Amino acid sequence: MKNIAVIGAGTMGNGIAHTFAQKGFQVNLIDISEKSLEKGMATITTNLDRMVAKETISESDKNATLSNIKTFTSTEEGVKNVDLVVEAATENVDLKLKIFQQLSEITAENVILATNTSSISITQIAAVTNRADKVIGMHFMNPVPIMKLVEIIRGYNTSDEVTKTIMDLSVTLGKVPVEVNDYPGFVANRILMPMINESIETLYNGVAGVQEIDTVMKLGMAHPMGPLQLADFIGLDVCLSILNVMYDGFKNPKYAPCPLLVNMVMAGKLGVKSGEGFYDYSESKKAEKVSKSFQ
Ligand code: NAD
Repeated sequence: MKNIAVIGAGTMGNGIAHTFAQKGFQVNLIDISEKSLEKGMATITTNLDRMVAKETISESDKNATLSNIKTFTSTEEGVKNVDLVVEAATENVDLKLKIFQQLSEITAENVILATNTSSISITQIAAVTNRADKVIGMHFMNPVPIMKLVEIIRGYNTSDEVTKTIMDLSVTLGKVPVEVNDYPGFVANRILMPMINESIETLYNGVAGVQEIDTVMKLGMAHPMGPLQLADFIGLDVCLSILNVMYDGFKNPKYAPCPLLVNMVMAGKLGVKSGEGFYDYSESKKAEKVSKSFQ
Protein backbone atom coordinates (compact mmCIF):
# COMPACT_ATOMS: atom_id res chain seq x y z
CA MET A 1 0.00 0.00 0.00
CA LYS A 2 1.32 3.38 -0.99
CA ASN A 3 -1.57 5.67 -1.89
CA ILE A 4 -4.18 6.59 0.69
CA ALA A 5 -7.21 8.86 0.54
CA VAL A 6 -8.49 10.44 3.75
CA ILE A 7 -12.02 11.85 3.63
CA GLY A 8 -12.60 14.77 6.02
CA ALA A 9 -9.88 17.22 7.11
CA GLY A 10 -11.32 18.01 10.56
CA THR A 11 -9.97 17.11 14.02
CA MET A 12 -9.29 13.48 13.07
CA GLY A 13 -8.82 13.62 9.30
CA ASN A 14 -5.86 15.99 9.42
CA GLY A 15 -4.21 13.86 12.13
CA ILE A 16 -4.72 10.68 10.08
CA ALA A 17 -3.29 12.35 6.96
CA HIS A 18 -0.31 13.62 9.00
CA THR A 19 0.39 10.14 10.42
CA PHE A 20 0.30 8.35 7.04
CA ALA A 21 2.33 11.10 5.31
CA GLN A 22 5.01 11.04 8.01
CA LYS A 23 5.50 7.33 7.31
CA GLY A 24 6.01 7.99 3.59
CA PHE A 25 2.53 7.25 2.23
CA GLN A 26 1.12 9.49 -0.52
CA VAL A 27 -2.01 11.00 0.97
CA ASN A 28 -4.94 12.64 -0.79
CA LEU A 29 -6.81 14.66 1.83
CA ILE A 30 -10.41 15.33 0.76
CA ASP A 31 -12.98 17.69 2.26
CA ILE A 32 -16.09 19.33 0.85
CA SER A 33 -14.98 22.53 2.56
CA GLU A 34 -11.95 24.41 1.20
CA LYS A 35 -11.76 26.19 4.57
CA SER A 36 -11.50 22.83 6.43
CA LEU A 37 -8.68 21.78 4.10
CA GLU A 38 -6.80 25.01 4.78
CA LYS A 39 -7.36 24.71 8.52
CA GLY A 40 -6.37 21.02 8.41
CA MET A 41 -3.10 21.74 6.58
CA ALA A 42 -2.36 24.60 9.01
CA THR A 43 -2.88 22.22 11.95
CA ILE A 44 -0.58 19.61 10.38
CA THR A 45 2.10 22.28 9.83
CA THR A 46 1.81 23.55 13.43
CA ASN A 47 2.03 20.01 14.82
CA LEU A 48 5.06 19.19 12.63
CA ASP A 49 6.72 22.46 13.75
CA ARG A 50 6.18 21.39 17.34
CA MET A 51 7.83 18.01 16.61
CA VAL A 52 10.80 19.79 14.98
CA ALA A 53 11.12 22.08 18.01
CA LYS A 54 11.18 19.03 20.28
CA GLU A 55 13.71 17.36 17.94
CA THR A 56 11.52 14.29 17.43
CA ILE A 57 11.74 14.92 13.66
CA SER A 58 14.06 17.03 11.46
CA GLU A 59 13.13 20.00 9.28
CA SER A 60 13.56 17.80 6.20
CA ASP A 61 11.19 15.15 7.70
CA LYS A 62 8.66 17.95 8.13
CA ASN A 63 9.01 19.10 4.53
CA ALA A 64 8.85 15.52 3.22
CA THR A 65 5.67 14.89 5.25
CA LEU A 66 4.00 18.03 3.89
CA SER A 67 4.99 17.20 0.33
CA ASN A 68 3.33 13.78 0.69
CA ILE A 69 -0.11 15.39 1.17
CA LYS A 70 -2.31 16.73 -1.62
CA THR A 71 -5.70 18.33 -0.98
CA PHE A 72 -8.96 17.84 -2.92
CA THR A 73 -12.52 19.12 -2.68
CA SER A 74 -13.73 16.45 -5.13
CA THR A 75 -13.99 12.91 -3.74
CA GLU A 76 -13.96 11.51 -7.27
CA GLU A 77 -10.59 13.19 -8.00
CA GLY A 78 -9.14 12.41 -4.58
CA VAL A 79 -9.76 8.64 -4.64
CA LYS A 80 -8.26 8.04 -8.10
CA ASN A 81 -5.63 5.25 -7.95
CA VAL A 82 -5.62 4.86 -4.16
CA ASP A 83 -5.23 1.49 -2.38
CA LEU A 84 -7.13 2.46 0.75
CA VAL A 85 -9.71 5.06 1.74
CA VAL A 86 -9.97 6.13 5.39
CA GLU A 87 -13.19 8.06 5.91
CA ALA A 88 -13.15 10.61 8.76
CA ALA A 89 -16.09 12.85 7.86
CA THR A 90 -18.68 14.13 10.32
CA GLU A 91 -20.23 11.50 12.64
CA ASN A 92 -23.61 11.19 10.93
CA VAL A 93 -25.02 7.90 9.76
CA ASP A 94 -26.81 9.20 6.64
CA LEU A 95 -23.70 11.07 5.54
CA LYS A 96 -21.48 8.00 5.99
CA LEU A 97 -23.91 5.79 4.06
CA LYS A 98 -23.93 8.31 1.21
CA ILE A 99 -20.12 8.53 1.16
CA PHE A 100 -19.66 4.73 1.14
CA GLN A 101 -22.28 4.25 -1.56
CA GLN A 102 -20.34 6.73 -3.69
CA LEU A 103 -16.96 5.11 -2.83
CA SER A 104 -18.36 1.75 -3.85
CA GLU A 105 -19.23 3.18 -7.28
CA ILE A 106 -16.09 5.20 -7.96
CA THR A 107 -13.24 3.01 -6.61
CA ALA A 108 -11.94 -0.34 -7.91
CA GLU A 109 -13.33 -3.39 -6.12
CA ASN A 110 -9.99 -4.28 -4.52
CA VAL A 111 -9.76 -0.93 -2.67
CA ILE A 112 -10.23 -1.33 1.09
CA LEU A 113 -12.78 1.09 2.55
CA ALA A 114 -12.07 1.98 6.19
CA THR A 115 -14.01 4.31 8.47
CA ASN A 116 -12.80 6.18 11.52
CA THR A 117 -16.34 6.30 12.93
CA SER A 118 -16.52 6.39 16.73
CA SER A 119 -19.70 4.38 17.01
CA ILE A 120 -21.68 3.82 13.81
CA SER A 121 -22.18 0.20 12.71
CA ILE A 122 -19.47 -1.01 10.30
CA THR A 123 -21.91 -3.71 9.16
CA GLN A 124 -24.53 -1.09 8.25
CA ILE A 125 -21.96 0.98 6.35
CA ALA A 126 -20.62 -2.12 4.57
CA ALA A 127 -24.14 -3.11 3.48
CA VAL A 128 -24.41 -0.14 1.10
CA THR A 129 -21.19 -1.13 -0.73
CA ASN A 130 -20.37 -3.83 -3.27
CA ARG A 131 -17.57 -5.23 -1.03
CA ALA A 132 -18.72 -5.83 2.56
CA ASP A 133 -15.66 -8.08 3.09
CA LYS A 134 -13.39 -5.06 2.48
CA VAL A 135 -15.11 -2.56 4.78
CA ILE A 136 -13.55 -2.14 8.22
CA GLY A 137 -13.37 0.24 11.18
CA MET A 138 -9.99 1.91 11.68
CA HIS A 139 -10.67 4.00 14.78
CA PHE A 140 -7.75 6.30 15.55
CA MET A 141 -7.60 8.27 18.79
CA ASN A 142 -7.22 12.02 19.18
CA PRO A 143 -4.58 13.50 18.73
CA VAL A 144 -3.76 10.93 16.05
CA PRO A 145 0.00 11.65 15.62
CA ILE A 146 0.50 11.06 19.37
CA MET A 147 -1.96 8.39 20.47
CA LYS A 148 -0.82 4.77 20.08
CA LEU A 149 -4.13 2.93 19.93
CA VAL A 150 -6.07 2.05 16.79
CA GLU A 151 -9.29 0.15 17.47
CA ILE A 152 -9.81 -2.17 14.49
CA ILE A 153 -13.48 -3.05 14.12
CA ARG A 154 -14.56 -6.07 12.13
CA GLY A 155 -17.98 -5.76 10.56
CA TYR A 156 -20.13 -8.88 10.27
CA ASN A 157 -18.66 -9.63 6.82
CA THR A 158 -15.14 -8.18 7.12
CA SER A 159 -12.67 -10.82 5.89
CA ASP A 160 -9.71 -12.20 7.87
CA GLU A 161 -7.40 -11.05 5.09
CA VAL A 162 -8.57 -7.43 5.19
CA THR A 163 -8.43 -7.42 9.01
CA LYS A 164 -4.83 -8.65 8.91
CA THR A 165 -3.88 -6.08 6.25
CA ILE A 166 -5.25 -3.21 8.37
CA MET A 167 -3.75 -4.59 11.61
CA ASP A 168 -0.33 -4.81 9.90
CA LEU A 169 -0.73 -1.36 8.37
CA SER A 170 -1.45 0.11 11.81
CA VAL A 171 1.80 -1.41 13.10
CA THR A 172 3.64 0.15 10.11
CA LEU A 173 2.22 3.50 11.25
CA GLY A 174 3.82 2.93 14.67
CA LYS A 175 0.45 2.23 16.32
CA VAL A 176 -0.88 -0.60 18.47
CA PRO A 177 -3.99 -2.11 16.85
CA VAL A 178 -6.63 -3.90 18.93
CA GLU A 179 -9.24 -6.05 17.16
CA VAL A 180 -12.84 -5.74 18.37
CA ASN A 181 -16.30 -6.70 17.14
CA ASP A 182 -18.97 -4.46 15.70
CA TYR A 183 -21.44 -3.36 18.41
CA PRO A 184 -22.52 0.22 19.16
CA GLY A 185 -19.62 2.27 20.55
CA PHE A 186 -17.24 -0.71 20.05
CA VAL A 187 -15.01 -0.87 23.16
CA ALA A 188 -13.44 2.59 23.54
CA ASN A 189 -16.58 4.70 23.46
CA ARG A 190 -18.82 2.13 25.12
CA ILE A 191 -16.71 2.65 28.23
CA LEU A 192 -15.59 6.27 27.77
CA MET A 193 -18.88 7.95 26.79
CA PRO A 194 -20.94 6.80 29.81
CA MET A 195 -18.17 8.27 32.00
CA ILE A 196 -18.23 11.58 30.13
CA ASN A 197 -22.05 11.64 30.18
CA GLU A 198 -22.08 10.94 33.92
CA SER A 199 -19.62 13.80 34.47
CA ILE A 200 -21.96 16.14 32.59
CA GLU A 201 -24.91 14.77 34.59
CA THR A 202 -22.94 15.45 37.81
CA LEU A 203 -22.43 19.06 36.68
CA TYR A 204 -26.09 19.33 35.58
CA ASN A 205 -27.27 18.11 39.00
CA GLY A 206 -25.16 20.76 40.73
CA VAL A 207 -23.02 18.24 42.60
CA ALA A 208 -19.82 20.11 41.68
CA GLY A 209 -18.36 22.58 39.18
CA VAL A 210 -16.35 21.91 36.01
CA GLN A 211 -12.92 22.35 37.60
CA GLU A 212 -13.91 20.29 40.66
CA ILE A 213 -15.20 17.35 38.61
CA ASP A 214 -12.11 17.31 36.40
CA THR A 215 -9.76 17.66 39.38
CA VAL A 216 -11.39 14.70 41.15
CA MET A 217 -10.88 12.51 38.10
CA LYS A 218 -7.34 13.76 37.35
CA LEU A 219 -5.91 13.58 40.86
CA GLY A 220 -8.14 10.85 42.25
CA MET A 221 -8.14 8.44 39.31
CA ALA A 222 -4.83 9.43 37.69
CA HIS A 223 -6.55 10.44 34.44
CA PRO A 224 -4.23 12.72 32.42
CA MET A 225 -7.18 14.98 31.58
CA GLY A 226 -10.55 15.47 33.28
CA PRO A 227 -13.64 14.04 31.49
CA LEU A 228 -15.16 17.48 30.79
CA GLN A 229 -11.95 18.78 29.25
CA LEU A 230 -11.65 15.54 27.27
CA ALA A 231 -15.21 16.03 25.99
CA ASP A 232 -14.18 19.52 24.81
CA PHE A 233 -11.26 18.01 22.90
CA ILE A 234 -13.36 15.27 21.32
CA GLY A 235 -16.10 17.77 20.36
CA LEU A 236 -19.43 17.91 22.23
CA ASP A 237 -21.32 17.27 18.98
CA VAL A 238 -19.27 14.09 18.44
CA CYS A 239 -19.97 12.97 22.05
CA LEU A 240 -23.69 13.57 21.55
CA SER A 241 -23.75 11.61 18.28
CA ILE A 242 -21.94 8.66 19.86
CA LEU A 243 -24.29 8.58 22.87
CA ASN A 244 -27.30 8.70 20.54
CA VAL A 245 -25.92 5.78 18.48
CA MET A 246 -25.48 3.70 21.66
CA TYR A 247 -28.89 4.78 23.04
CA ASP A 248 -30.60 3.75 19.78
CA GLY A 249 -28.48 0.63 19.33
CA PHE A 250 -28.96 -0.88 22.79
CA LYS A 251 -32.38 0.68 23.58
CA ASN A 252 -31.00 1.18 27.08
CA PRO A 253 -31.68 4.48 28.95
CA LYS A 254 -28.26 4.35 30.59
CA TYR A 255 -26.84 5.80 27.35
CA ALA A 256 -29.38 8.68 27.13
CA PRO A 257 -27.41 11.91 26.61
CA CYS A 258 -27.60 14.43 29.47
CA PRO A 259 -29.96 17.34 28.58
CA LEU A 260 -27.12 19.79 29.34
CA LEU A 261 -24.99 18.18 26.61
CA VAL A 262 -27.92 18.42 24.17
CA ASN A 263 -28.43 22.10 25.03
CA MET A 264 -24.75 22.97 24.67
CA VAL A 265 -24.58 21.38 21.22
CA MET A 266 -27.77 23.18 20.14
CA ALA A 267 -26.21 26.44 21.40
CA GLY A 268 -23.11 25.83 19.25
CA LYS A 269 -20.80 25.23 22.26
CA LEU A 270 -18.85 22.34 20.76
CA GLY A 271 -15.62 22.55 22.78
CA VAL A 272 -12.15 23.37 21.42
CA LYS A 273 -13.25 23.50 17.78
CA SER A 274 -15.90 26.19 18.39
CA GLY A 275 -13.82 28.12 20.95
CA GLU A 276 -16.04 27.24 23.92
CA GLY A 277 -17.35 24.18 25.68
CA PHE A 278 -16.96 23.42 29.36
CA TYR A 279 -13.84 25.60 29.17
CA ASP A 280 -13.03 28.83 27.35
CA TYR A 281 -10.68 28.45 24.36
CA SER A 282 -10.44 32.10 23.36
CA GLU A 283 -7.25 32.82 21.38
CA SER A 284 -4.91 33.52 24.33
CA LYS A 285 -5.93 30.41 26.27
CA LYS A 286 -6.28 28.16 23.23
CA ALA A 287 -2.58 28.10 22.37
CA GLU A 288 -1.71 27.04 25.90
CA LYS A 289 -4.27 24.23 26.06
CA VAL A 290 -3.63 22.83 22.58
CA SER A 291 0.13 22.72 23.13
CA LYS A 292 -0.42 20.88 26.42
CA SER A 293 -2.29 18.11 24.60
CA PHE A 294 0.80 17.43 22.51
CA GLN A 295 3.26 17.14 25.40
P1 NAD B 1 -14.91 17.29 12.52
O1 NAD B 1 -16.24 17.92 12.66
O2 NAD B 1 -13.74 17.94 13.19
O3 NAD B 1 -14.53 17.16 10.96
C1 NAD B 1 -15.37 16.56 10.01
C2 NAD B 1 -14.96 17.04 8.63
O4 NAD B 1 -15.69 16.28 7.65
C3 NAD B 1 -15.27 18.53 8.37
O5 NAD B 1 -14.08 19.18 7.96
C4 NAD B 1 -16.31 18.48 7.25
O6 NAD B 1 -16.20 19.57 6.34
C5 NAD B 1 -15.95 17.15 6.59
N1 NAD B 1 -17.03 16.58 5.76
C6 NAD B 1 -18.36 16.54 5.99
N2 NAD B 1 -18.99 15.90 4.98
C7 NAD B 1 -18.04 15.54 4.08
C8 NAD B 1 -18.06 14.86 2.82
N3 NAD B 1 -19.20 14.43 2.28
N4 NAD B 1 -16.89 14.67 2.18
C9 NAD B 1 -15.72 15.12 2.71
N5 NAD B 1 -15.63 15.76 3.89
C10 NAD B 1 -16.78 15.97 4.57
O7 NAD B 1 -15.09 15.78 12.99
P2 NAD B 1 -13.98 14.81 13.65
O8 NAD B 1 -13.95 15.03 15.11
O9 NAD B 1 -12.70 14.90 12.86
O10 NAD B 1 -14.67 13.39 13.41
C11 NAD B 1 -14.54 12.71 12.18
C12 NAD B 1 -14.83 11.25 12.43
O11 NAD B 1 -13.87 10.73 13.36
C13 NAD B 1 -16.22 10.98 13.02
O12 NAD B 1 -16.72 9.80 12.49
C14 NAD B 1 -15.91 10.85 14.51
O13 NAD B 1 -16.84 10.07 15.19
C15 NAD B 1 -14.56 10.16 14.46
N6 NAD B 1 -13.70 10.30 15.65
C16 NAD B 1 -13.61 11.49 16.30
C17 NAD B 1 -12.75 11.59 17.40
C18 NAD B 1 -12.56 12.91 18.12
O14 NAD B 1 -11.91 12.93 19.17
N7 NAD B 1 -13.06 14.00 17.59
C19 NAD B 1 -12.01 10.48 17.84
C20 NAD B 1 -12.11 9.28 17.12
C21 NAD B 1 -12.96 9.19 16.03
